[in-house]
Amino acid sequence: MNIKAVLSDNIIDFDTKPRDACGVFGIVAPGEDVSRVTFFGLYALQHRGQESCGIATFKDKTVSLHKDIGLVSQVFDEKVLSKLKGDIAVGHTRYSTTGATNIQNAQPILVQFEDQKLVIAHNGNLVNATELRNFLIEKGYKFESATDTEVMAKLVAFELSCSKELKIAVEDAFKRCKGAFSVVIATSDYLIAVRDPGGVRPLCLGTTSRGQYVVASESCALDIIGADYVREIAPGEVLLINKEQKLVSNLSSLSFAPHHCIFELIYFSRPDSTFRGLSIYHYRKELGRQLAIESPALADYVITVPDSGTPAAIGYAEELKLPYTEALIKNRYVGRTFIQPSEMLRELGIRLKLNPLKDIIAGKKIVVVDDSIVRGHTSRKIVKLLKDSGAKEVHMRLSSPPIKWPCFYGIDIDSRDQLIAAKKDSVKEITKFIGADTLEYLSHDGMIKATGLSRNFFCTACFSGEYPIKIPKELEGAKFRYEKYAKVVSR
Ligand code: 5GP
Ligand code: MG
Repeated sequence: MNIKAVLSDNIIDFDTKPRDACGVFGIVAPGEDVSRVTFFGLYALQHRGQESCGIATFKDKTVSLHKDIGLVSQVFDEKVLSKLKGDIAVGHTRYSTTGATNIQNAQPILVQFEDQKLVIAHNGNLVNATELRNFLIEKGYKFESATDTEVMAKLVAFELSCSKELKIAVEDAFKRCKGAFSVVIATSDYLIAVRDPGGVRPLCLGTTSRGQYVVASESCALDIIGADYVREIAPGEVLLINKEQKLVSNLSSLSFAPHHCIFELIYFSRPDSTFRGLSIYHYRKELGRQLAIESPALADYVITVPDSGTPAAIGYAEELKLPYTEALIKNRYVGRTFIQPSEMLRELGIRLKLNPLKDIIAGKKIVVVDDSIVRGHTSRKIVKLLKDSGAKEVHMRLSSPPIKWPCFYGIDIDSRDQLIAAKKDSVKEITKFIGADTLEYLSHDGMIKATGLSRNFFCTACFSGEYPIKIPKELEGAKFRYEKYAKVVSR
């Protein structure tokens, strides 16, 4: 059966949302069970990608690689892990942003140049992948997958073929890359971490209790293996770590001008991961507080759309001194099935995932806080669920501004023609579509204010249409295709 078709029909609406970024993990720890540690690291990064996953290990020059379609818990078991032996490991959870869902596109990717092998795992999206791919094809390289990750891997192989030492080859390869890339690479001797100059996607460095280095997309993957957070991999950094845990980095020669993806703070990252020393939970609560200041509502209860809306809902309630309660209970397991619901079950829609507490909702004025609206379908169903449960009034509040622009840096761009805020002319129209009594988004300025940082610090392209990394002409087509929708949503 076509997995893509299964996923797209799946009740968790995999295909109706922008595809999440991927998760990467790497460890260099001779003498440890590196694949098992990587397995748990990937477990903590499962939220960043649920289509496929993989782990590769290096034992001297021998590579063991296992990857497949499915969740970390489906792809790996004791038998598989016991075969993945080595001193260095790299792992990946994938949510496709380029290329379809199939096993060829799963990561990590292995490439070989003469007797030098390397495996690579990537989170983000290159904006000049086509150009680089053509360059490599001209040089005689062949491609097995449709991913930009293979392009990066072969770029490194190309630079190595120019008789450069590994460090220089990696640096030169990534100097050619434009876009978002948080990358981990393993070779027989090194674990390497690379991050694009904008630091669009997260990447951090940690150490285990035994002093061995770990690299992960988010700090929650360090916590699960008991590692301490050391620091961010700096935007533009290329960091090599050898088996003696010696670090070699270009850090001292870097000047930072980051543009971190603000949607990582709003939705993507796990709330227990950190950003600049504070939990993502903290930022989400602040977004909720700011939303309350801008758009208060008179209500009996503030409720969340679990789980992503919860910190913002709590912040919103605290700011207005309104009671916060749970009223929609999430079935945490149903969304993780590959089995399609029958026609009869499909009609239940959102109820397979969220069950309302009618005795709490009936007769009450409810403020429902969520982090974002993408297509508006979920939000519409939630409002209906609350109304069907007897809510007297439903006031929807979003802890982010309207999403109107495609992302070229790691989130699926095809969904732009599906974005309700791009399609509708005003918040009033969106409110009507959703069926809420009132609907308010957080303002752009309010979003920035809630972070306590400056606007320049972030990429806000999905909200503002301002792209910090230049988009090549051929990709701009995707943007301008929907230009007619690019009106400012009026209030
Ligand atoms: P909508 O009403 O647009 O259909 O759905 C809104 C919900 O989608 C929100 O609860 C929000 O947390 C969630 N959401 C936002 N971005 C993404 C994403 O990239 N992937 C998934 N699966 N859900 C998302
Ligand atoms: Mg959500």
